[in-house]
Order: sequence, then C-alpha cells, then structure tokens
Amino acid sequence: MSLPAGSSIGIIGGGQLGRMLAMAAARLGYRIVVLEPQPDCPAAQVANRQIVAAYDDAAALSELAAASAVVTYEFENVPVAAAAALASTVPVYPPARALEVAQDRLAEKKFLNGIGIPTADFSPVDNDEELTAALKQFNGSGILKTRRMGYDGKGQRVFRNMETGGFAGTCEAMGTVPLILESFVTFEREISVIAARGIDGSLAAYDPAWNVHRNGILHSSTLPAGVKSETAAAAQAAAAEILAALDYVGVIGVEFFVLADGSPLANEIAPRVHNSGHWTEAACTISQFEQHIRAVAGLPLGSPARQFDCVMENLIGDDVRRVPDLLAEPDLMLHLYGKAEARPGRKMGHFTRVSRRS
Ligand code: AMP
Repeated sequence: MSLPAGSSIGIIGGGQLGRMLAMAAARLGYRIVVLEPQPDCPAAQVANRQIVAAYDDAAALSELAAASAVVTYEFENVPVAAAAALASTVPVYPPARALEVAQDRLAEKKFLNGIGIPTADFSPVDNDEELTAALKQFNGSGILKTRRMGYDGKGQRVFRNMETGGFAGTCEAMGTVPLILESFVTFEREISVIAARGIDGSLAAYDPAWNVHRNGILHSSTLPAGVKSETAAAAQAAAAEILAALDYVGVIGVEFFVLADGSPLANEIAPRVHNSGHWTEAACTISQFEQHIRAVAGLPLGSPARQFDCVMENLIGDDVRRVPDLLAEPDLMLHLYGKAEARPGRKMGHFTRVSRRS
C-alpha cells in the first residue's frame, strides 16, 4: 500500500543526503522527521522536525518510530540493532540486512561472491602474521582496509610490490581492528550504478557514471561513462541481483572497477542514495532522491532514463569560493548543503553541467 500524501517519513542521519531526500519528499507531499545529534544539520534546515539525539538513543528511536509512517536512513553506519529494533514497530527501508552486509567489507565480499558477483580477491587479516601470509598470496601487493567504518579511502594502506615480510606493527597502526587485505586491482576506470527496487519488487537502474576520486574523495561523475554497452549492462545486472538478493526497498549505490577487458568487479555497496548519483537531479526527470522516496513510500518507481549528458563535480572545502563563477554558467545546476564552515575535505555542495545527449 502506498503512503498517502501528508504522511511523515523518518530519516536517520541529517547530512546532505538526508537534505536532498527531504526536498524530494516535500515535493511528493510528505513531511520529514530527522534524527540527528547535530542541531541545525543540513537535513533539518529543510525538514519539518528534528529529533536531536544519537542514532542509537532508544528513547529517540521510539519517538522517531511514533512520529513516522516509514523510516529510512542516509548513511550506512546506522547501528544494525537500532534498525532491527525500529523495524518491529514501523517499516524500515532498506532492510537491516543491507546494513549488515554493507558495514563489514568481509561480509560484503562474501555476500557478493555468494550471489555470483566477482570482486577483488581478499583475505581477512587480524594480525601481522596473517598480513604477511596474505601479502605473500597476493605477490606482495594489495590494499589493507579496516573491515568496518571505512569511507572515502579512510582506514586504508596500500602495499605495492613490496617484500613479503617486515610488517610488524602494521595491524596495531591500523587500530588493532579486524582488517581485510584486497588484491590490488589494475582498473581502467571506476564506475557506479545507482539502482532502485520498489516494495512490489520492480526495478530501475540508472546509467553507470564514470567516477574520479581525488584524495580518496569523489571528485567527479561523468555521463556517459565511456564504457562498452556490455560493461554497462553487466554492472546494471549485478546491481539488480544485489537488490533482489537483499529483498531490498529503496535506492542503492554499487561501485565497480572496470578491468581492461571491460568486465566490472564490484568494489562496494552503499545502501542509500549515493554521491555518484547526484547527477540524476539535473539529468533525469526522476532523481535518485525522488526514486528513493517513491520506493520507501510504496509509490510506483519513476523512469531512470537520462535526458542529458552531464558532469557532476563536488565542491569540497574552499571550492565553494567558485560559486559566483559557476552560477554565471547557463546550463549548470548548483546544490549547496547549508553548511556554515568550509573545512578542508568537507563536502559543501556540488554542481552538474548538462549538455545535449551525444
Ligand atoms: P573504497 O574505500 O573501497 O571505496 O576505496 C577507495 C578507493 O581506493 C577506490 O575508489 C579505489 O580508487 C581505490 N581502491 C580500493 N580498493 C582497491 C583495490 N582492491 N585495488 C585497487 N584500488 C583500490
């Protein structure tokens, strides 16, 4: 059953993704309640109400459940226990299982391989001895990552053609937390697919974007992605399989490495709207944000068709100084997140330049 206009949707997390979800929800006639400890957060500035509390605060979660007809979230580190507890009183989409898989790089890779989706080779690492053995297996090169709470390249260490010994103290330097070593993938480019699944199991996948990272943070997403049509189809098919396997409702972001032969290797999944899907608000009739709200509200999914070619760029830290010049461009959509202070590495906004489809 679909959610009637005027109903309230709860969002756990109050950053820019929550802000853009709230704006899309408002256009469909819904009200938004945000749970976020930071007062006057980007999402709360455009929402109807903010509950100022920690994401795992039991009383605040009950308040959110009572105030919402459905609850969703805008970041993948929502405590699984909190999502599962909430789900006993109010529908929570995407399902807690998606959080479980996305929060642990080892569980994520096992899940992907288990449904036939290829990834980089990997080995769990809990101490320096296991690191030495795993690096030997990968010929002395690989990327060591924390299994949990890593994002934007944080909590990672690269080994390239190094001798396979002398790693004493490495795991301690990584925080003595569970780690995973991935084989080093020589990729031609990185792409991502934003896809959605409705409550009725319907699917919609956007065109893949070509993503360029700088200092571990997404710099730009370009459409078309410049990959073979077989590559795009394989990536979209993988995203659809992931959605079905998780009995998913909502939008997901799936990142891939494209190898020289054009085959995509899945890198990670984000059970939420995704930075590499921001271009959809300028180049598609139905943005990823509206698509997510439609999915969790039980409305029909909209078309993911792309109307324009485009390039989305993030405005990080002092990049916001470019705003006056950017606004002078005729075919550019600007989106600022309402953050007062432009700290280095902080995502302040983004813009998308559109042009006629090639
Ligand atoms: P992640 O946090 O897994 O998204 O990794 C951040 C970035 O590091 C990716 O976007 C890639 O550019 C690079 N990277 C991650 N894993 C690998 C890998 N196994 N091989 C080569 N590059 C990688």
